[in-house]
Amino acid sequence: MRLDKFLSHTGFGSRKEVKELLKKKRVTVNQTMVRDAKFSVNENEDEICVDGQPVLYEKYVYYMLNKPKGVISATEDASSRTVIDLVKSDDYKKGLFPVGRLDKDTTGLLLLTNDGPLAHDLLSPKKKVPKLYQALVQGEMTKADIETFSSGSIQLDGEKCLPAILTILSIDMEKKQTIIHLEIMEGKYHQVKRMVEAVGKKVIELERLEMANLTLDTELSRGKYRPLTEDELKLLK
Ligand code: URA
Repeated sequence: MRLDKFLSHTGFGSRKEVKELLKKKRVTVNQTMVRDAKFSVNENEDEICVDGQPVLYEKYVYYMLNKPKGVISATEDASSRTVIDLVKSDDYKKGLFPVGRLDKDTTGLLLLTNDGPLAHDLLSPKKKVPKLYQALVQGEMTKADIETFSSGSIQLDGEKCLPAILTILSIDMEKKQTIIHLEIMEGKYHQVKRMVEAVGKKVIELERLEMANLTLDTELSRGKYRPLTEDELKLLK
């Protein structure tokens, strides 16, 4: 691939910014200084260095993000900040996208990657990938709700939801609020909020804790992200 493309893909900025690097003689390929942006490199064999530091090429990158409220799950947007805007510019940004969507006011686990095939697998309805949410609900959730959810009888947009596992963690009788866990196997639009609405209650706060075999790292504060560990990645594949 072209040297400027390689450097851009590995986090050294736009093609224009990369050109500047080259102009300033900061780039070597196999110990030889290169200033030509079109120079052809083999990312698997050539040793490409910036300021003497070898640049490693990873085809795919995987980040676990703890999504904060107020950002949207998209790659770009005319008016709102996106989850991709949370990624530092010196990280590999090119081609990164969120795997699925969390609402603007939902927090928690969101995977960011540029691995299209993996994302496709994780989002495919056929794969029935489990997602675990914790919600604060206005209203008292009941045993009857647990059965309604597990029976798969809730309909959204005229389509039945797959059976979902509702666990009641605690009920605040005074405030008439319930903290629940809800595990669903699909990803319909506003699914958790609408399932809870279907039994007459309202989600006030929503956080995703798990997706597939991946668990939100409790050390990761809201708005922060980190690369997946090798073990976490193995769990996803
Ligand atoms: N269900 C919802 O209602 N919202 C989300 O963000 C995710 C699942």
